[in-house]
Amino acid sequence: MIPGYGGNILRVNLTAKSSATTPIPESWKREYLGGRGFIARAFWDEIKPGTDPLGPDNKLLMAPGPYTGQFLSSSGKLHMGALSPATGGYGDSNMGGHVSFELKQAGVDLLILEGIADTPVTVVIDDGKVTYRDASPYWEGTTFDTERRLKEELGEEWQIMVIGPAAVNGVVFACIQHDFGRQAGRTGVGTVMASKKVKAIAVRGTKDVRLFDAKRTLAEGEKMMDQVMKQPGFTAWQPYGTPEVVPWASSQGVMPTRNFQTGVIEGFHNLDGPTMKAKVTEIDKGCTSCAIPCGKWGKGVLNGKEKPQEGPEYESIALLGSNLGITDIQQVAYLNGTCDELGLDSISAGNVVAWSMECFEKGFLSAADLGREMRFGDAEAAAAMFHDIAYGHGFGKILGQGVRAAATRVGLGTERFAMHVKGLEISGYEARYAPAMMLSYMTCDIGGNHSRSWAVTFDVATGRENFEGKAERVIWLQHVRPLFDALGCCRFPWVEAGLDPESYVAFIEPITGMQFTWDDMLKVSERVWNLTRMISYRHIPGFGRSFDSPPPRWVEEGHETGPTAGKHFTPEQAQDLLDRYYKLRGWDVNGIPKAEKLQELGLEFCVAALCK
Ligand code: SF4
Repeated sequence: MIPGYGGNILRVNLTAKSSATTPIPESWKREYLGGRGFIARAFWDEIKPGTDPLGPDNKLLMAPGPYTGQFLSSSGKLHMGALSPATGGYGDSNMGGHVSFELKQAGVDLLILEGIADTPVTVVIDDGKVTYRDASPYWEGTTFDTERRLKEELGEEWQIMVIGPAAVNGVVFACIQHDFGRQAGRTGVGTVMASKKVKAIAVRGTKDVRLFDAKRTLAEGEKMMDQVMKQPGFTAWQPYGTPEVVPWASSQGVMPTRNFQTGVIEGFHNLDGPTMKAKVTEIDKGCTSCAIPCGKWGKGVLNGKEKPQEGPEYESIALLGSNLGITDIQQVAYLNGTCDELGLDSISAGNVVAWSMECFEKGFLSAADLGREMRFGDAEAAAAMFHDIAYGHGFGKILGQGVRAAATRVGLGTERFAMHVKGLEISGYEARYAPAMMLSYMTCDIGGNHSRSWAVTFDVATGRENFEGKAERVIWLQHVRPLFDALGCCRFPWVEAGLDPESYVAFIEPITGMQFTWDDMLKVSERVWNLTRMISYRHIPGFGRSFDSPPPRWVEEGHETGPTAGKHFTPEQAQDLLDRYYKLRGWDVNGIPKAEKLQELGLEFCVAALCK
């Protein structure tokens, strides 16, 4: 058996209240590595076309990776996936904290939750043995209360994942939370967990994970820890975490502001890292084995009311701050804590509320429609709307189905400024005059998300008007960044501290005994990228090029202010970017992988689906 893994697939059938353990296929380790790779591979076999995202046949998949919990910096990531209720296609997300290594020590490389329980449950996984606890008394509880309660009942050594009221009430962008502030936020994985009547998953693992060469793993880990702490990026970034990006983003006109109407927020320094450190942060918090703990625990404040929370990190500052026209970091932290306790993805929640504010200010929706006046800059109104969304009250019920569904329902041209790709709300980078970043969003496999390819710095460095090399860079990033999700570790030592990503190759042999070059690793990522594309092709009727469209606003109107004022690309230029990208990927003009590309990547089992 290849070392470095927990060893097993743990299948939990909630309808039958049964569980079964089978070995993870050895070939999957070589071809998919773990984490996101295992999720995509299992997704293909387990979730069939025609499945209802909220029905018993959808499955919630969770997987650590071979690097999870090992002695290299920042190795605490857990990947998860399901057919997305937000987009109808391939959905995934990941979270930090400590549960990933716990699961691996429980002997689990892939957890499959299937079926639907008859009453609310907490699934308890103790070294791979599964039992259930009645969750009815706290089914409606907030995330923080539920995690605290289960820690008290089970013991501090247990690692707990929970959902909040938003998931329970069917919001399609509900998250799964762990460690009082770590979220798997995107694509509605929390909504799928709620549909299975699972309020929480508690994990305890005490088994050793056998390594191929423990001494060499330790030596490589020590070398890496030393390198990380010597990086110039470490001292600049660690004290503030991701909010360090705020001044740069606003000065470059890429900080989403007032529903992406512009990319510059006046008073951006009130949202930056030093201001947050002074006004919100109390302590640093980190995931398993992290030398650069970027989590910041502290209090948000709104009109004298306090709310403890972790963060806000950059994405939440962008979507709950500038995108709502709010420049008070304590208020942003309060809104972040509100989303966290309700179990809302703060990116999607900020995005849909910003859309409702633009609708109100432009007269498409009235205070009577929305339940209150919704003006940019009004944090009280935003907080109230988050509650309406999470509990399905009034217009909140419509917003809780995502910005695409809400704009389709309202009509009147509001679709033009519904900021999503494939039904997933766009995250914290305005990209209308940043071609690589726009292409990143357009082609992201889960929809409007930045994490697969954060290409905006490349646009700034190589010329925003310039298209040359942009598709190549996006593809490279779409292979390198998700590689960390397959390995089960965090990419910040590379992205933020400045470590060479290729240095991660040094760990694969000592941990697993498998021999990989950097190019071999990128090939795994390319395989997974094509597989997730095929999954969405198989599940979404008519899936193809039209699903890779940018929001109309990005190709129709420029900013009024800022460094790129008045500039945007045309719809034809967006199509030109896609042509370049598809050609480099070996996909047809409709954006579907060709049979020869699938065969080249060892995805022969997908070829028959091309003839659907
Ligand atoms: Fe977690 Fe931040 Fe460390 Fe990454 S850098 S492992 S997100 S604490």
